Amino acid sequence: MADLSLITPIEYLKGVGPQKADVIKKELQIFTIGDLLSYYPFRYIDRTVFHKIRQLDADMYSAQVLGRLIGLKEVGEKRAKRLVGQFKDETGSIELVWFQSITWLQKSLKVGSAYVLYGKPSVFNGQISITHPEMEPYQAQVKNLGNMTLQPVYSSTEKLKKFNLDSKGIQKLQQTALETVFRQLTEQLPAYLLAKHQLMDQARATVAIHFPQSQEELTQAIKRIKFEELFYIQLKLLKNKQLNTKKFRGQIFSKVGDKFNTFFKERIPFPLTNAQKRVVKEIRQDTVTGAQMNRLVQGDVGSGKTVVALLTMLLAIDNGFQACMMAPTEILATQHYTGLKELLGEDICNIKLLTGSTSTKQRRIIHEELENGSLDILIGTHALIEDKVKFKNLGFVVIDEQHRFGVEQRAKLWRKNSIPPHMLVMTATPIPRTLAMTMYGDLDISVIDELPAGRKPIKTVHFFESSRLRMFGLIREEIAKGRQVYVVFPLIKESEKLDLLYLEAGLENIQREFPLPEFKISIVHGKMPVKDKDFEMQRFVKHETQIMVATTVIEVGVNVPNASVMIIENSERFGLSQLHQLRGRVGRGAEQSFCILMSSNKLSKEGKLRLNTMVRTNDGFEIAEVDLELRGPGDISGTQQSGVLELKLANLATDQQLLSEARNSVIDIFKEDPEMTEERHASLRQYLARKTDGIAWDKIS
Ligand code: ADP
Ligand code: MG
Repeated sequence: MADLSLITPIEYLKGVGPQKADVIKKELQIFTIGDLLSYYPFRYIDRTVFHKIRQLDADMYSAQVLGRLIGLKEVGEKRAKRLVGQFKDETGSIELVWFQSITWLQKSLKVGSAYVLYGKPSVFNGQISITHPEMEPYQAQVKNLGNMTLQPVYSSTEKLKKFNLDSKGIQKLQQTALETVFRQLTEQLPAYLLAKHQLMDQARATVAIHFPQSQEELTQAIKRIKFEELFYIQLKLLKNKQLNTKKFRGQIFSKVGDKFNTFFKERIPFPLTNAQKRVVKEIRQDTVTGAQMNRLVQGDVGSGKTVVALLTMLLAIDNGFQACMMAPTEILATQHYTGLKELLGEDICNIKLLTGSTSTKQRRIIHEELENGSLDILIGTHALIEDKVKFKNLGFVVIDEQHRFGVEQRAKLWRKNSIPPHMLVMTATPIPRTLAMTMYGDLDISVIDELPAGRKPIKTVHFFESSRLRMFGLIREEIAKGRQVYVVFPLIKESEKLDLLYLEAGLENIQREFPLPEFKISIVHGKMPVKDKDFEMQRFVKHETQIMVATTVIEVGVNVPNASVMIIENSERFGLSQLHQLRGRVGRGAEQSFCILMSSNKLSKEGKLRLNTMVRTNDGFEIAEVDLELRGPGDISGTQQSGVLELKLANLATDQQLLSEARNSVIDIFKEDPEMTEERHASLRQYLARKTDGIAWDKIS
């Protein structure tokens, strides 16, 4: 057995073999002995705690009772056949029920004997009972208690159970694995880090997570393993960043020129907020270092990211480069285009729009101007990344609403210039700091954490169906004041037909309440041809209509400062970040704005928490924290590429402190020993060499 190691395929472990190995691979994605050892229990049963029968209730996850079996009989016929036992202690008695292994149980269980019973209490006919409890004779149990206080529980599947790999069976494999490879569990983290963060060593932690001797030992083992997971992700991310900085020479924007100055001194209609100034400065500093910038700007809806992007694009143009800005939808790209032209005026630079519906003739002009360098700024959708689109000298790329674009698309923009352009990624979905550090650990992060002055916080209320008339009343009042209103219906991908039904029924309802000619309504949904959509949008933008009934297509970026009411129908069906995005469509002007969350009376616990969170706060970062706790990082878009999902134990919502410690340790290492040549970092250097071998760096940004 001496030649087995952590990377030995699982079938060579004693007691596994090819057949079992197949099932283990398929069901658990465990391929090696090392994989098995990092398949951790998902909970532990505390075998030191005993319950009295009187304490049992159906809410308990599990219970352990010491008592006596006082009766056992078979009841029912054929498929309804079952074995029913009576079990009692000094506080009462309960029924035990078995549907399987009846003959065997009748032979092995002894009426009158003492047992330690373990199982999940449930209610049947108003009585507490336990189905399929585990029964251990009292004497045997006592002997076991000495060496096993916390019993690990591994999740298993029906298929695995057919191969005797229920939780207990997996535990047995873990035991074999540990006995086989224990000596090879050598420490990989530098000793000084273990000392500094008071971490248990690797071998001990691996044993303790599977066979904890005490709660304290388990806590220490978990801490060690979580730290390690977070540490290695950070190590990889910061290594990428280091390599990028070295590998990619960046354009140098050495001067601030006429275009920037003209706009900044003469045209800009408002003073920048301090946060905006800070971010512009951060970008400016990045663009003079000679290395390529990769920066993420996080800012809540309405925090004014667009003008920051504009200022920095002007900087690029002043230094002889072209710039482009990519948005995820045609509506948004068009709006950026009109918005920027309005801000800039006609004379500062040549700016054009390229989307799927740009005419062939216009396209030809754009291609030509791009290649001869006379086009300064190109705004567009993903049409920008097509190979036909060639720039003379692309120096600066802005990507708005980042999470809708994949890494691959970002990389394509990089390659549009021999020296890659600086990249500015803007996202309006605030991400908790911990998640940002992990998802975008290789980007620099700027935060616009301040809204322009004079904005009144949006008032948010949650109405049930019974308050529908009050909701209509508010719409009427606001329209009378000259404001405009959004009414949004959910869009559920699985059933587009149903979505339209909702929308149509809702629309009829609203048309009845707000009839022509006094009221005019725009309607926008995803199934409409782009032209019609734009037409309807434009009517609303120009205030020819007062109400916009829409599905979530208006979620991103739409800017109509005169709109002051956002009604969200069936709001319980939306996720938190979506609700927050939608709400951000109002509150953009100086007027008091409102958001009304309509919902049915039937709310799940989570649904209620989401709506309450919306009512309680306008702070996108706070909302993002709750969202992360509710959904976990796996459901938050963009995480797939980030390594977050490699986390087995660490939890980004609850382990923020540990994550900071891990990240700071990595930052220190890159500061003190950037190439990891010191002896104390030898194992990390080897780790990175293994992990980064053969990676195509241009695919990673
Ligand atoms: P977002 O960050 O959501 O993209 P925008 O850039 O669309 O926000 O800005 C929202 C609105 O706020 C726009 O109408 C914009 O002109 C305005 N705005 C941006 N910065 C300021 C500022 N410093 N003071 C006042 N209004 C501002
Ligand atoms: Mg925006």
